[in-house]
Amino acid sequence: MKIEINTQSILDLTVSAFFVLTSMTIMRLVIPEGNTTIFLLRGSKLVGIVFLALSVIFLISWFFNRNFKFKKKISTPNLKDLILVALPMSPIINYALINNEYLVASGFLFLIGIPLIFILFFSYIFPIIFSFIASLKILMISGLALSFTVISVAKIYNNPESHILNSLLVTQGVYLILSFLAVYSLYILDKRIAYIAVIFFTITGIIINFLNQSKDNLSKIQKPKRFVEFLDNPKNKIIKKKNIYLLVYESYADLETLNHYGFDNNEHLEFLENNDFKVYHGIYSNASNSLASTSRILEIDGNLSLLDRYYASGNAFALNIFKANGYKTIGLFTSPYFFGSSKISWDEYYPKESATKMGGMNITKSIFEGNFEFDIFEDDYDYKDYLKLKKKYLTSNKKQTLFYTHNRYPGHSGNSGKCAPDEKQKYFRGMKKANIEMKNDVLNVINNDPNSIIVLLSDHGPYLTKNCRNLKKYDVNTINKYDIQDRYGAFLSIYWPKDILETENELFITQDIFPVILSNITNNKNLFNKLKIERKFFDEINWSIAGINVFNGIIKGGMDDGKPLFDKRSYKLPN
Ligand SMILES: [Zn+2]
Repeated sequence: MKIEINTQSILDLTVSAFFVLTSMTIMRLVIPEGNTTIFLLRGSKLVGIVFLALSVIFLISWFFNRNFKFKKKISTPNLKDLILVALPMSPIINYALINNEYLVASGFLFLIGIPLIFILFFSYIFPIIFSFIASLKILMISGLALSFTVISVAKIYNNPESHILNSLLVTQGVYLILSFLAVYSLYILDKRIAYIAVIFFTITGIIINFLNQSKDNLSKIQKPKRFVEFLDNPKNKIIKKKNIYLLVYESYADLETLNHYGFDNNEHLEFLENNDFKVYHGIYSNASNSLASTSRILEIDGNLSLLDRYYASGNAFALNIFKANGYKTIGLFTSPYFFGSSKISWDEYYPKESATKMGGMNITKSIFEGNFEFDIFEDDYDYKDYLKLKKKYLTSNKKQTLFYTHNRYPGHSGNSGKCAPDEKQKYFRGMKKANIEMKNDVLNVINNDPNSIIVLLSDHGPYLTKNCRNLKKYDVNTINKYDIQDRYGAFLSIYWPKDILETENELFITQDIFPVILSNITNNKNLFNKLKIERKFFDEINWSIAGINVFNGIIKGGMDDGKPLFDKRSYKLPN
């Protein structure tokens, strides 16, 4: 096949560049602000330059080819070309598969329908206008490649390991150009090959995704043995049937970490100590995000075999122990974020609304925003309702209850990979709110149920140092103990009622909470040592802190290698 560079081809490219530029501008207006709009803004600047360059080349070519005639005829797409929609739809199908735990039929329709309308508009309808002077084929394929890239932004963004030249924009550019070149060259070679290639691409994607999913399913081996063995030992029976309150405060930092940020929290800790709370210092979590951290507390395990949400939905070793002893478990959350498709096994829980109902809309929104992050479920719930319910449970004084809740304050950084200019101030304001909330919580329980065990804790740190996010890209030798405290450090304070004298156990991590409680309310003093899990980080250390770990309170790797993670500690470091 002979490829001739002629004026029409140059005009086709020029008009396509203009078409992409216009489409990017329109998309920027309709897509909610986020990674995708950032990509569209930066990308349109580059496409604008390409368009200007092509325009100049076209004018020169036209000058030498005075006989050139403009097409002046609108073309309409071939029905068969709709097959090509499979390319930009393939990431959507995969999002639907990955997130099926949040989808019911209506959510699924929403997730498929909205992107489909988007793609049809930008790849088939909008190009018709431009086809007046240029080839519809090239316009249509430009539209498909652009839609494919826009819909892939969330996936690209969340896989920084795969970024080409370590750059998000370059990777997005490569997606755009490669997908265009691949489809266009196959299409002009033979349409049918292009159709087959696109379908092949989509189906392989689905199969790979499916295999990955079933691999996860295969590893879902239950551990009933541990539970059965636990119950078999009569010494493990709970004899002091106290109410247990576990109150998680989102990203609430330890005193030493707060001092490092410049926030003085001493007055608040005095309040706790005056109310007979023991404040533990130098505590960390073995995981650095909400679900990974709290699921390990509930399951009393480091290596989890199931998705974190399975445990957060109330299906966890520690909770099962309490249930087997006649306890009622209550889980109170600010949104359905913590629940997935697993059976919710809390005896009582809030919110009742299933995450699956809101899933379709939220997932679609996240796809177009170009970001799958923590808080996609947070928007629709009124925090005042949460606080009211929390107060109700803290003052209800029912017997044999394990109450667990996860609040929203002080909260972590925006997670954008760049600190906001007022990131610390925002956190300090969050700390003040959290302290007021914690004071109320403490007084509510103490005044109504002083014979209970009350645990105040946080899930992980607030992410305020360096880039305010994961440190994967940092030289490990620039990462110090504060960066680690900032991500894995946690707050812990426990109110032990008068008839429990807990002094002997060395609490290092928040995952020690249930082991220490159980060794104090059963006849088995050895349970702490038996149940406690390794004092190290289990999740995402490469992603969060460039592979550094902390073993028994001592940092391994990075700038502070060999030093303790915390200077102020309630525990003794092992020799
Ligand atoms: Zn969290």
